[in-house]
Amino acid sequence: MRSNPSDYEMVAPGSLDAVVSLLANEPGVWLPIAGGTDMMVQYAAGKLAARKLVSIWNLPELRRIEVAAGEIRIGAGCTYTDLRGHEVVGREFPLVASAARWTGGVANQNRGTIGGNIVNASPAADSLPALLVYDAELILVSVRGQRRLPYASFHVGYKKTVLAQDELVQTVCLPRRFSGYFNHARKVGARNAQAISKVCIAALGRLENGVLEDVRIALGSVAPVPLRLTETEQAVRGKPIDSDLLLLARRATAAEIRPIDDIRSTVRYRTAVAGNLVAEFLNRLNSAQKSAESGGGKDVLARWNRLPVDEAMSAILPCCGSSAWAQRMVARRPLGDESAVLAASDETWRNLTRSDWIEAFNSHPRIGESRAAHSPPAQSVEWSAQEQRNVADADAAAKVALANANREYERRFNRIFIVCATGKSTLEILGILRRRLKHNAEAELHEAAEEQRQIIEIRLRKWLQG
Ligand SMILES: Cc1cc2nc3c(=O)[nH]c(=O)nc-3n(C[C@H](O)[C@H](O)[C@H](O)COP(=O)(O)OP(=O)(O)OC[C@H]3O[C@@H](n4cnc5c(N)ncnc54)[C@H](O)[C@@H]3O)c2cc1C
Repeated sequence: MRSNPSDYEMVAPGSLDAVVSLLANEPGVWLPIAGGTDMMVQYAAGKLAARKLVSIWNLPELRRIEVAAGEIRIGAGCTYTDLRGHEVVGREFPLVASAARWTGGVANQNRGTIGGNIVNASPAADSLPALLVYDAELILVSVRGQRRLPYASFHVGYKKTVLAQDELVQTVCLPRRFSGYFNHARKVGARNAQAISKVCIAALGRLENGVLEDVRIALGSVAPVPLRLTETEQAVRGKPIDSDLLLLARRATAAEIRPIDDIRSTVRYRTAVAGNLVAEFLNRLNSAQKSAESGGGKDVLARWNRLPVDEAMSAILPCCGSSAWAQRMVARRPLGDESAVLAASDETWRNLTRSDWIEAFNSHPRIGESRAAHSPPAQSVEWSAQEQRNVADADAAAKVALANANREYERRFNRIFIVCATGKSTLEILGILRRRLKHNAEAELHEAAEEQRQIIEIRLRKWLQG
């Protein structure tokens, strides 16, 4: 049924005290509205049951970020734009900052709030796995006072929470004790921004003396609530990262998650993707550790930071293939360490134009071939060969199938197919290619860009090793 604006009443009392008094006086009658990005969708679909709305948008008590010695306190009314721009959030809680970058487009990031994401309680919400792995705590407020609880106990079932009718989420507290951890986030959707996740991961890990000293993994869209994989963590903790551990991690993940079939995906697909995401995280943690042990690329970086502009551009260009990307990376010098390089690269890559993206795509040979359309630098050719090692070893039938699928892709999208081939078998790549042939042009461009972002990350790590 269509909604009629005159059926609704909205007030904006302007202070936290006044809002909680209103909620207490008529429990269940007034519904808080923050940025309205979820509620407007419900309204447009005729599914917004509450008729009386109380605005909490821009309440000063909910819109600040306090940095204390032991924790950072984020007001529930902070928007994704607030989170993206906050220096301590970006440095110490990069998984929150990445989720903020991925949540919808710019307009949505200017309105959508972290409190709204939490209370809307979608199992697919992007920021919630990050809150789980950082051990977030929530401060809830009502006329009865405040109560503080672990975020992990907030969701009690599909779209069910422990929030009372007269309560608001006031603050999200993040303990500042994860600085030595490797952070990893990834969203698998039709594309990164503006799409609800099919599966997303936020994970932290630390290796000591070659074994997983601590690991914290959470997934979205694999259960009725955002899920911390405590059993999988338990199974892998204390062990070295090798092929046996990756197998164990995939099995433990499949046993722990509870995905469903819905319009966005299937149980089978989500289970496979969840296992891949956990294995990918562990692989990345392992290579980050190896890179840190060999000096984290500090020598290469120190030299590059001092090179003249032209030489610095030529040195870094093979990692990406886009000259605009190389130019902007050079403009961001000096970069202090590997994580600063990767963060600068991600930010730069996402803000390039489509033609810059296409320039980078064209620096690769077709998957299964060795020559690119344009002549890339020798280093890029060598890396492409390493990345496609498994495909080069494939049998003749698989190579023919891949060549045919490549041609179909190019006819459909008018450009080369891009996939992060490192560690993937020919059959896996063929499956991905065939799935992506069903995309519309916009969704496919964004998926290709995400694959290229991963290729750049892997190449940057290699480049820093010298
Ligand atoms: C185009 C578009 C793209 C999107 N893309 C993504 C995406 O990629 N990833 C993703 O995770 N989400 C996405 N979303 C969903 C949405 O933007 C987020 O969930 C957002 O964080 C909701 O915040 P809000 O302030 O707009 O909430 P509102 O719509 O104002 O409120 C949502 C719910 O939370 C309650 N609420 C809000 N704040 C509080 C509070 N402080 N205390 C108690 N209750 C509260 C409201 O009563 C309501 O029930 C998208 C939405 C749109 C429209």
